[in-house]
Amino acid sequence: MIIAIYPGSFDPIHYGHIDIAKRAARIFDKLIWAVYDRPHKNLMFTTEERLSFMRQAVQDAPNIEVMAYDSLTVEFARQVGARVMVRGLRVTFDFDVEYQTALANRNQAEDIETVCVFTSSKYAFVSSSILKELADAGGRITEMVPPYVESALWKRLAQLGEDRGDKIKQVTLQE
Ligand code: ADP
Repeated sequence: MIIAIYPGSFDPIHYGHIDIAKRAARIFDKLIWAVYDRPHKNLMFTTEERLSFMRQAVQDAPNIEVMAYDSLTVEFARQVGARVMVRGLRVTFDFDVEYQTALANRNQAEDIETVCVFTSSKYAFVSSSILKELADAGGRITEMVPPYVESALWKRLAQLGEDRGDKIKQVTLQE
């Protein structure tokens, strides 16, 4: 049985991620879709929120398990018995980053192989950061994320907007 992990920050997931997870699950016996659980000040969603989006996205895929991890990625792979690490490629410059990361990981663990899966062309321009920027500027994101992620994004952005508004008010009052 070949187990693979698909690690990342997934803040939040979009259809490009879901596409890679489901296609990888057709190649391997079991796919562990894993969120890197490390405190990071630039993250928009908590680990629990990100896990919940992922679980909803793959509830119809019996060989995909969603998990969080906070160790070295190759260590996590070993812990869950995975021999393969899946990464998605969108554009050519993704290759440079993934190539370097794969070599660094191989340097840490000879026994874990990185396998890159090419994105579907319709998702080649989608990334979590572009998604958040578009949403923040009021752009249309419906084609990029499942409805539950879209509504969570609007809600979070509204909260952040209120926070930003409060801060501006405080500064003005102090001045
Ligand atoms: P990172 O792990 O670099 O912070 P993400 O968590 O967003 O980035 O992405 C995790 C994995 O998903 C990476 O391998 C990334 O290349 C891949 N990925 C991101 N967006 C897409 C997409 N639109 N199509 C295919 N793969 C993607």
